Amino acid sequence: MARPSNFPPPFSARDYIAEPTDPPDERIEVGVLVVGAGPAGLACAIRLGQLIGEHPEMAERFGEVPVAVLEKGKQPGSHLLSGAVVNPRALRRLFGDRFRMQDLPSYGPVHGESVYVLTRRSALPIPPPPPMRNHGNWVFSLSELGRFLAEQAEEAGAMILPETAAQKLLVSHGRVVGVRTGDKGRNREGGELGNFEAGSDLVAKVTVLAEGTQGHLTGVALDRFDLRGEEPQVWELAVKEVWKVAKPLDRVIHTMGWPLRASKRYREFGGSFIYPMGDDMVTIGLVVGLDYRDASLSVHDLLQELKTHPKIRKILAGGERVEWGAKTIPSGGFNSLPRELHAPGLLLCGDGVGMVNVPRLKGIHYAIESGRLAAEAAFRALQRGETPASALSSYDDAVRDSFIWSDLHEVRNMRQVFQRGFFVGGALASAMTMSKGRAELGKLEAEPDADQPLLVTDRDKSYPAPDGKLTFDKLSSVFASGNKTRDDQPNHIRIERRVPREVAQLWAHMCPAQVYEVGREDDDGTVTVDVAPSNCVQCGAITAKGGRLTPPEGGSGPEYTVT
Ligand SMILES: Cc1cc2nc3c(=O)[nH]c(=O)nc-3n(C[C@H](O)[C@H](O)[C@H](O)COP(=O)(O)OP(=O)(O)OC[C@H]3O[C@@H](n4cnc5c(N)ncnc54)[C@H](O)[C@@H]3O)c2cc1C
Ligand code: SF4
Repeated sequence: MARPSNFPPPFSARDYIAEPTDPPDERIEVGVLVVGAGPAGLACAIRLGQLIGEHPEMAERFGEVPVAVLEKGKQPGSHLLSGAVVNPRALRRLFGDRFRMQDLPSYGPVHGESVYVLTRRSALPIPPPPPMRNHGNWVFSLSELGRFLAEQAEEAGAMILPETAAQKLLVSHGRVVGVRTGDKGRNREGGELGNFEAGSDLVAKVTVLAEGTQGHLTGVALDRFDLRGEEPQVWELAVKEVWKVAKPLDRVIHTMGWPLRASKRYREFGGSFIYPMGDDMVTIGLVVGLDYRDASLSVHDLLQELKTHPKIRKILAGGERVEWGAKTIPSGGFNSLPRELHAPGLLLCGDGVGMVNVPRLKGIHYAIESGRLAAEAAFRALQRGETPASALSSYDDAVRDSFIWSDLHEVRNMRQVFQRGFFVGGALASAMTMSKGRAELGKLEAEPDADQPLLVTDRDKSYPAPDGKLTFDKLSSVFASGNKTRDDQPNHIRIERRVPREVAQLWAHMCPAQVYEVGREDDDGTVTVDVAPSNCVQCGAITAKGGRLTPPEGGSGPEYTVT
C-alpha cells in the first residue's frame, strides 16, 4: 500500500538558511524581529512596546526600529482563521487594566452550549464532556482580533510590514541574526517582471518565529538546531465557513460522529463546531485528523455534507455564506513540543511549535501567552546587553512554569489515543479528563500523518452535489476566501510530481482549494500531478501529507476578514 512519505518533496531545509548577503549599510536593522502577525507575534510586539515604554532607558539598545513584525498576508488578519472561542486568560494578562474584555472586538461571552452525536438523520444530545465546556470563554473572529492587536502593536511602537514573507533564516556563526524576505514580481519561470523587487535582509538582535501552523522557518530552525521533540508533530485539517443567518444562534455547538466513520480502519478523528457571531452570523467548521487513510476523503466536501444534516440545515436556513477558509491545527500536543523553544538569537511561539490543546480546540490563549513570555525573555536578554545562546533560555523556564505547560501536560496523550479508533479512544480520553491527566496510559507514540498507508474507497461518490446555496464546490470556496493570487507567480508548493495514483488522489481530494489534479498515467503505472498553485489558501495540509508548502510572494493567498 502506498504511503505519501515514500514520495518526499524536492525540498531541503538547508536551502532556506543563509548568511546575510545585503551589504551591511543596506541591511534593515531591528531590535526584535517578529515573524507572523498572529496572536502570538502581535502579543509579543505589544508586550515589548509596554516594556520599552516602562524602561525608556532601554530604547537606545533596541535601536531605531525597536520592534518589527513581518506578515505574509495582505494585512494583519488576512491569513488568520480560527473558531474562535477564546479563553480570556492570556488577553487579560497581556492588557492588564488597559482593556476590559468588553472593549475588545468580540461577539460576547458564551451563553450556553450543546454537544450532539450525529448519525445521518439524527442528533443525540449528550452532556458536554469537560473539554467542551466553554463557560467563561468569549467568541471572536480571529481575523478581526488580529487587526485589533496589530493596531495595539503599532500604537505601542512596532513597525508592521504586511505583504512580506520571511523566506530564509539568516544564521551567522551558529546564531540566528534575522531573516531574508521573499522577492516580489517574479513570473512562473522565476524571471523578473517590470515590478520586480528583490527581498531584503532584516537583521535583529533577537528573532521571534510566530508563524503559526506549519511555520516554514520554524520547521527549518527545528532541523537546523536539532530541536524536534520526542514525538513527531501531527495535524488536523479544518475547513470553515461564516454565514449570515436569519435567526440568531444562542449557544456554541459541537458535534461528533457523522459524517466521519467510526471504524478504526479509516482512522477518522474529528468533529464540528458551530459558534454564534452576534445576532446575525454563525461560523461552522469541520476538523479532521490528517492521519486518515482514505485517499477519497475531502474535508471540504464533508463539511458540505454536514450542512445537509436536518439539525444544521435548520440553523443555516434562509442564510447566506459570506466567507470560507481552511487551515491546519497542530495536534501532537505535549509530547510533540520541541525539546527547547529557543536557540541562539531565536525564540519560538504558538502554533508553530504546537501549543494547542486539541480536546478543547484551543490555542489562541497559549499563542498570546507564549508571545508575551517571549517578549519578556527577549527584553531581559537585551537588558543585559547580549544575546548569547543561554540568554534566551529563560523563555523555556517561563513557558514550563506557565499554564501553557500544565494544560498541555494534562491532555498529553489525548490525540494519540484516538489512533485506537473512535470508541476505545473516546473511553481513554474520558479516563484522562476525569483524572485531570493523572491516568497513566504510558507514552503513546504518534505516527507521522504522511506515514499512513492509503486505501481508496468510493466515499467521494456520496458527497452532495453543489447547489450554490447550501453546498458549494471548491473553486467557489476559494473565491469566498478572497484569494486573488496572481496566476503567473512562481510555484511555492513542493511535491513529487510522479506518484502512484492513490497518492495523487489523496492530494487532489485533501486539498480544500483544488490545487492538485490527477494527470496523465505513465507506462510505469504512476501518474503526473498537475498543480494550480494560485488557488492555494496556505492551509498547510500538504506539508503534513507528504509535500511541502513554502511561503509564496508576500500579499498573496486568502484575504480573510471575519474567519
Ligand atoms: C478552524 C480552527 C478553529 C480553531 N478554533 C479555536 C478556538 O475556538 N479557540 C482557540 O483558542 N483556538 C482555536 N484554534 C487554534 C488557534 O486558531 C491557533 O492556536 C492560533 O491561531 C495560533 O496563533 P499563532 O499566532 O501561533 O498562529 P497563527 O494564528 O496561525 O498566525 C500566524 C501568522 O503568521 C503569518 N506567517 C506565517 N509564516 C510567515 C512567514 N514566513 N512570513 C511572514 N508571515 C508569516 C501568517 O500569515 C499568520 O498571519 C482553531 C484553529 C482552527 C484552524
Ligand atoms: S495546496 Fe495549499 S490549500 Fe491545498 S492543501 Fe496544500 S497548503 Fe492547503
